Amino acid sequence: MVEMSQEFIFTLVYLLICMCLVFPPTEVRSAGLTLQNVLSAWLGSEDMQLIQYHIKKSTAAAALHSALPLGYFVGLGFACPKLDLFLIHELGLWWQTYLVASTAIWLSTWLLCYYWSRNKWGNHPIAKALHFQGNNSAWTHVAARINQEFRRIDKFTTGPPDMRVIVTDSWVMKTWAYGLNVAYQPDCHLNLLWTEEHAISHESRAGVQYLAMQVISANAHIKPFEIRLLSSDYKDLRDKLTVPVVNARNVVIQQTLTDRFLEAFRQQVHRNPPFVPAPGSLAPDNCIGCLQTRSNVKLVKLCEEGQGGDCVQCFCRPMWCLECMCKWFASRQNQSQPESWLGSKSPCPTCRSKFCMLDVCFIPSVQ
Ligand SMILES: [Zn+2]
Ligand SMILES: [Zn+2]
Ligand SMILES: [Zn+2]
Repeated sequence: MVEMSQEFIFTLVYLLICMCLVFPPTEVRSAGLTLQNVLSAWLGSEDMQLIQYHIKKSTAAAALHSALPLGYFVGLGFACPKLDLFLIHELGLWWQTYLVASTAIWLSTWLLCYYWSRNKWGNHPIAKALHFQGNNSAWTHVAARINQEFRRIDKFTTGPPDMRVIVTDSWVMKTWAYGLNVAYQPDCHLNLLWTEEHAISHESRAGVQYLAMQVISANAHIKPFEIRLLSSDYKDLRDKLTVPVVNARNVVIQQTLTDRFLEAFRQQVHRNPPFVPAPGSLAPDNCIGCLQTRSNVKLVKLCEEGQGGDCVQCFCRPMWCLECMCKWFASRQNQSQPESWLGSKSPCPTCRSKFCMLDVCFIPSVQ
């Protein structure tokens, strides 16, 4: 019983160490206990030698992580001597299988890392990807060009250190634990795949939207890869890209808070009953906010009494378009609490009668 619990505790501690090594939490990162920091002298500077840095870093990560299963066996052998793990010929079938498998993983990965390092790292997948995109020039020449572009301050980068999206004048890249995807910009196009909304993130209380895009190169040697970024970074990315972003699935990108609110506001207005103008009444003029669109909303008090509702019927004729009404509504809200906007009220821009989102009616006859 005592032995079991010792084994259990070791397993838990070891799993925790593995988690910290593979996905370092912020605390571990800020204490400088990451692979990058420990090996910084060998890895060199990411800012100066981006490609060489990631070639070495991915190799080190693969070498270290592949030793973790075997490390568990050795560690457990020392932590619980009564298990007699080092008497290999007396091991049960389960431990024998574990030992063989973990040794095989470790050895084959180390062999692979050794192979990558041969030929001055020319066998590494990153080096090969560069070679295929360099018009027959050596991968080191291509790497030098990328490193040089990466040193410029006008590059676009976003994302956490282990999952960074980088766009330079002629390259689109993504870093990850065991590699770096590189695609030559003029060869590729981007496909918007999907969006993901998170109600609350630690960066803002307003909720965020993530975009996933696939980078597809016309070069057959370069496999498509996926990048993920905040939709608020989309404009900067777009400014840096010289190639098209295909939005075949009509993904709606909400770049700013107002965009996201506008979407919710529009949906609510279309759920509200439409407003049908009395027969013979004059067609509405252009919106007095933007002077571009026909006025297409009317405030009609539709919300129930009793729900703390102090909305008042507005008698103004339609003078605003949906977009301007939404922007007006948003501008009257507490800017530090966007999550409260949907349930809040605003005065009518003309007569100051209070209204809520349930009281905004679309006028379908207006084109
Ligand atoms: Zn307008
Ligand atoms: Zn009014
Ligand atoms: Zn109301």
